[in-house]
Amino acid sequence: METVVSGIRPTGNLHLGNYFGAVKSFLQMQNEYNCFFFIADWHSLTTHPHPDNIVSGVRKILAEYLACGIDPEKATIYVQSDVREVLELYLYLNMNAYLGELERTTSFKEKARKQPENVNAGLLTYPTLMASDIIVHKAAKVPVGKDQEQNMEMARKFARRFNTFYGVDYFPEPASFSLSNKAVKVPGLDGSGKMGKSEGNAIYLIDDEKTIKKKVMKAVTDAGPTVPNSEKPEPIENLFTMMEIVSSQDTYNYFNEKYANCEIRYGDMKKQLAEDINLFCSPIRERILDIAANTDYMEKVACQGAEKARESAAKTIQDVRRIIGFKAY
Ligand code: AMP
Repeated sequence: METVVSGIRPTGNLHLGNYFGAVKSFLQMQNEYNCFFFIADWHSLTTHPHPDNIVSGVRKILAEYLACGIDPEKATIYVQSDVREVLELYLYLNMNAYLGELERTTSFKEKARKQPENVNAGLLTYPTLMASDIIVHKAAKVPVGKDQEQNMEMARKFARRFNTFYGVDYFPEPASFSLSNKAVKVPGLDGSGKMGKSEGNAIYLIDDEKTIKKKVMKAVTDAGPTVPNSEKPEPIENLFTMMEIVSSQDTYNYFNEKYANCEIRYGDMKKQLAEDINLFCSPIRERILDIAANTDYMEKVACQGAEKARESAAKTIQDVRRIIGFKAY
């Protein structure tokens, strides 16, 4: 079985965009690959979070992933900071990563622009920590979006460089991949663009029925089509896209026909959409609350995941130490 590694940022609750854009494919992957899913708490230090926020962020995300169906018996789910071997590899990779190439990375330039008062070395070496996260398990594949392509290219470069530098064929070059050819983009319901936490338009898996209804009823619409079979403007298209994702085909077809005949009543459509979103979210919401309340279970899952991840990472570090010329322990 090929190894897949994916990091999850512990920043806030999961929304429908995260679920359909990422978590859903994790659920499929855990059956087909040797998966390592880690909560990237070290990465979050680049923005200097308060310790309380780190703890609560990690717990929240762990409970939500488990509630969505990530199965700790199938996939190794762990907290990055529980696996110190990652840091040792990070150090070795940093010795062969050069200032020029790190400074040229788009993600570094973007973050440096966003937080000019805190351009720390962690931001600069984000690509080496990411490479370490991946190659410490000798992963073959990493499910990432287009925005991570440059960092993936660097991970491959660092793996290749290690091999060349030490004259070994040790690290495989990790490839980016996505399970489906057509990436799902969950739209926002505020007129344009995609759903996102920072866009302020997210519907969270944890949202209760009332909140969901309120958010959906606020969705941007227009006066409705006046010519049969007209093209849908973006806000309306987004409403339909969301319906395509969460509702049944029949429901979608029903409203689509109404639109084509200029008989659409957006109020009815939104009501139906809110109901269907709630139907999807409510069992997950209940599981999130159950799991989050069961701290013993969460602790057990985190410990078990850390143990499995450490075992895999320690094996790599032993080899790497030997290759570099250090004593293996
Ligand atoms: P983020 O919340 O930006 O850290 O993203 C976490 C994961 O969810 C990434 O794999 C994103 O590509 C995915 N994701 C976030 N928002 C959306 C969206 N609106 N549609 C599809 N995928 C998304």
